[in-house]
Amino acid sequence: MDKTQLYPLRFEPIYQYRLWGGRHLASLLSRPLPGDGPIGEAWVLSDRIDHQSLVANGPLKGHALGQVMAQFSEQLMGKLSSRFSRFPLLLKFLDAREMLSVQIHPSDAHPELIPAGDTAKTEAWVVIEAEKGSHIYAGLKSGTTASSLRQSLGDGTIADHLVSIVPKPGDAVFIPAGTVHTLGNNVVVFEVQQNSDVTFRLYDWDHIDQETKRPRPLQVDQAFACIEFGASDSGLVAPRAETTTPVERERLFDCHAFLLWRVLGQDQFTVGATAEPRVLVGIEGSGQIMHNGTPYAVSKGDIWLLPAEAGECVFQPCGKVTLLEIAIP
Ligand SMILES: [Zn+2]
Repeated sequence: MDKTQLYPLRFEPIYQYRLWGGRHLASLLSRPLPGDGPIGEAWVLSDRIDHQSLVANGPLKGHALGQVMAQFSEQLMGKLSSRFSRFPLLLKFLDAREMLSVQIHPSDAHPELIPAGDTAKTEAWVVIEAEKGSHIYAGLKSGTTASSLRQSLGDGTIADHLVSIVPKPGDAVFIPAGTVHTLGNNVVVFEVQQNSDVTFRLYDWDHIDQETKRPRPLQVDQAFACIEFGASDSGLVAPRAETTTPVERERLFDCHAFLLWRVLGQDQFTVGATAEPRVLVGIEGSGQIMHNGTPYAVSKGDIWLLPAEAGECVFQPCGKVTLLEIAIP
């Protein structure tokens, strides 16, 4: 198997029950949703010990991402191979039928709040679907203090302290670690984040978990410990145009943990990069990645990991297509 030449990899989604979830992901992902309960998250690329993405195509079908990382580190990660023993990004689709808890993830400034083996978590969202009434909250309004925020938890007015965004498809929202955030009321987003699962709940809108018949636990003190009060670059992002031909390419996110571009076009263009891995996400329309003469079909909701070894590949759109391309800085 060591002689295997890597190729574009597709993974089986890992669906997660969440009390705030819905059934929208059925129309986005090809694998049927389990049961008939609320599914809030599809983990579409995950190198977590407890939730390993499994390769869904080609000779490596059935292999866990962690196994591929260990066995083909150089071929998969290229110039990044010595820096990462596990894949540093966790990618998800979220279907937030109801509001998620108001929550926060720690930054590297709070190592005491990050369990061994985990990391800080900066994340970002690209809105896929939204309805009237959908909501995103990202960051604190200026003037909010620890004491006014704490008081608002008691009287249920926390939303008054949060920067509110009415989302529409295509919106890009940046949530650096240390930002108070939540979203919900029928919004579907693509989420890119550091490979971390550390979340502190500040407030949960009086939700009762139908699986346990109880409210979910809060971690108010830990949450307060990691909130960054004061100015922040969280919230709605203005895309920065980089090229207009042969495709419109705009940069949505550019932080220490990930870079993300949106690519719109209908003429052939290049995806992937020499000596580093890239991830492609189908947002609208369809097309195919060409690699070694083999086409790899991309349509809405598809995620492909392009190994470093694949380098630059030609993308052939079938009509107009919108993709996201993600890199690790
Ligand atoms: Zn979050």
